[in-house]
Amino acid sequence: MILDPVEILKQLVAIPSVNPMDREPTGPIFGEARLTDFLEETFSRIGLTTFRQPVSPGRENLIARLDGDAGSAREGRLLLLDAHQDTVSVEGMTIEPFQPLQREGRLHGRGACDVKGGMAAIIAAAARLADRRPSPRPTIVVACTVNEEHGFSGASRLTKLWDEDGGEIVPRRPDAAIVAEPTGLDAIVAHKGVIRWRCHSLGCAGHSSRPVAADNAIYKMARVVAAIERYAAELETAGPAHPLCGRRTLSVGTIRGGSSVGTIPDRCTIEIDCRPPPGESPEEARQQLIDHLSQPAITSFPLEHDLPFMSGPPLSDRDNERLADRLSRSAGEVVGRCRRLGVPYATNAAFFAAAGVPSVVFGPGSIEQAHTADEWISLDQLRQATEIIHRFCLSFF
Ligand SMILES: [Zn+2]
Repeated sequence: MILDPVEILKQLVAIPSVNPMDREPTGPIFGEARLTDFLEETFSRIGLTTFRQPVSPGRENLIARLDGDAGSAREGRLLLLDAHQDTVSVEGMTIEPFQPLQREGRLHGRGACDVKGGMAAIIAAAARLADRRPSPRPTIVVACTVNEEHGFSGASRLTKLWDEDGGEIVPRRPDAAIVAEPTGLDAIVAHKGVIRWRCHSLGCAGHSSRPVAADNAIYKMARVVAAIERYAAELETAGPAHPLCGRRTLSVGTIRGGSSVGTIPDRCTIEIDCRPPPGESPEEARQQLIDHLSQPAITSFPLEHDLPFMSGPPLSDRDNERLADRLSRSAGEVVGRCRRLGVPYATNAAFFAAAGVPSVVFGPGSIEQAHTADEWISLDQLRQATEIIHRFCLSFF
């Protein structure tokens, strides 16, 4: 069965799969379950074997496999194609998020760019392979993973597929992975990691008519925030920069403290985001900041640092050169060029690379349009991506 990637994309956008963040994955728009059902049905219809891999309650990776011409997934090459099922929130959007709108060569809707466009291209390419069964061809495993936008738990769980969870569906470690993200049809061969955690300052509650500055948790945190700002500025020029990804960055994204203007706050909490380039460990980068802040010259009071609530490793360009060569060739045949780039955002690819699978990030659409109020994707790029992925699969044997 031949599927049109534009029609598939419209169907994908019309099915809400908003990442629930810290909420329950239920209700009319939250969670991936509705999309998981649709994907299972679609892959079965085009002749792929499917498997559900539980990740957390109500949230499952959907895996689909098309055997290569070697006859079984144990023989011949095995290629993993990954796209995440979840989208970011729809708050503040200026268009109807789940009513796909086709206009002037673009498709608008939440997820159209990040990353249902990439997912539609993979599905259309897989459908064509399943329909024509060309030879030679590798075994293709399509992984539609959950929870990329808030913790990468789907990708992390997926790496258990070939040794613990799924023996049947993916009997061995894939030889390579392409991870869909909006890269504008360039190959992302390296990216930064990410680590996020909460930090608390403690004070002593009291009536604001008798303030004791030393015990005001907000005053303490103000000094911490200023120290982090200075430390982040020092990082901008400290040591050698990664050639594709630059230097480590740090930011404070939220601050909460106090219960009323009449009460001295006894607690203030910030959330810290740290992005180390390839070659640096997120956990070590976090510890370095904690050690820095604990110096008596910086803080004369104790701080509490929670364990990270999100952590993803960087992707290094050391192990994916041959894969990037091959993908660039397929992309070059279709669009004439394919740059190799590093980016500051983290993706599922680093989890597969850490599990020993050479991985590159690639897909239609621009990161500029991801997560935006009128998110859209170029339909020309969507069709080109389908062609590139199809060609790449045929070259991978
Ligand atoms: Zn994405």
